[in-house]
Amino acid sequence: MPDKPYISIVIPVYNEELNLPPLIDRLYPVMEQIGKPFEIIFTDDGSRDSSLSILQGMAEKFPEVRVIEFNGNFGQHMAILAAFEKSTGKIVITLDADLQNPPEEIPRLVREVEKGHDVVGTIRQKRRDSMFRKVASRIVNITTNKMTGMHMSDYGCMLRAYHRNVVNNINRCQETTTFIPALAQTFSANPTEIEVAHAERSEGESKYSLYKLIRLNFDLMTGFSVVPLQLFALMGILTALFSVAFAVFLLVRRFIIGAEVEGVFTLFAILFFFIGIIIFGIGLVGEYVGRIYQEVRKRPRYVVRRLHGFGE
Ligand code: UDP
Ligand code: MG
Repeated sequence: MPDKPYISIVIPVYNEELNLPPLIDRLYPVMEQIGKPFEIIFTDDGSRDSSLSILQGMAEKFPEVRVIEFNGNFGQHMAILAAFEKSTGKIVITLDADLQNPPEEIPRLVREVEKGHDVVGTIRQKRRDSMFRKVASRIVNITTNKMTGMHMSDYGCMLRAYHRNVVNNINRCQETTTFIPALAQTFSANPTEIEVAHAERSEGESKYSLYKLIRLNFDLMTGFSVVPLQLFALMGILTALFSVAFAVFLLVRRFIIGAEVEGVFTLFAILFFFIGIIIFGIGLVGEYVGRIYQEVRKRPRYVVRRLHGFGE
């Protein structure tokens, strides 16, 4: 076994067979150049391609590589959390397996932590994703900052560095659904952000369908803030006030003009609009109730089938 690691690299993997060999080829020189003891923890998030056997091979070949084998697909954030719990480095760095985050940026992240920052966030420079993803991210970044009172320029970039203390606090949380950069931010005393390069996905396709992206953003919005509920209550009050004013207006017209029956379809339009808002409201409450339900069931958040390369 090598020395106790100073840096832990954490990488979630879901069907990334083509990306793993080039990733390791680029990561190792960078880590060796830093010259401190390190470990690389991969979590295989239930891959159905040959990712797991490639990772097993790496764990046998490289003493620094460890692999957590999940019993199924529990999602990127659970994969990272499992690796956090196993990590021992003083600095923990998360990275995507698809080479969108260049490993060459790691030394800069390490330097920022060594300067005393306990969370080093990143902003993707010249982000290489579809227009749709970029616009959606902008909206998410702005609304999340407003709602949570946090300040992060780029919630989506997973190339980040965390000090051991922050990781320990994250490990104490037992939330079933979470969003790690936001969770880390709540424990950070001295965060910073740097710009990093961003590449196109090297091989394969994004593992996030539109539905999974929407789910993830609900986790971010409802997991870190009750502002959506509060806004909804506020909107209800405003609508009620407006309808009282409208009723008074109609009453006065009734006395001045007499009975009126025109505008029935306008009325329908208005009605449908409000029904839409009500359904949205029920859904929103449902999001929170669902989260509470998941928490109280206290089921295991993920299931590890086997560990590779951890010694023993
Ligand atoms: N990932 C994972 N489990 C999942 C989905 C994704 O471990 O259910 C991993 C994936 O292998 C990659 C990282 O999370 O290393 C980011 O995924 P992806 O590149 O598909 O996301 P995008 O860059 O499109 O946001
Ligand atoms: Mg990616």
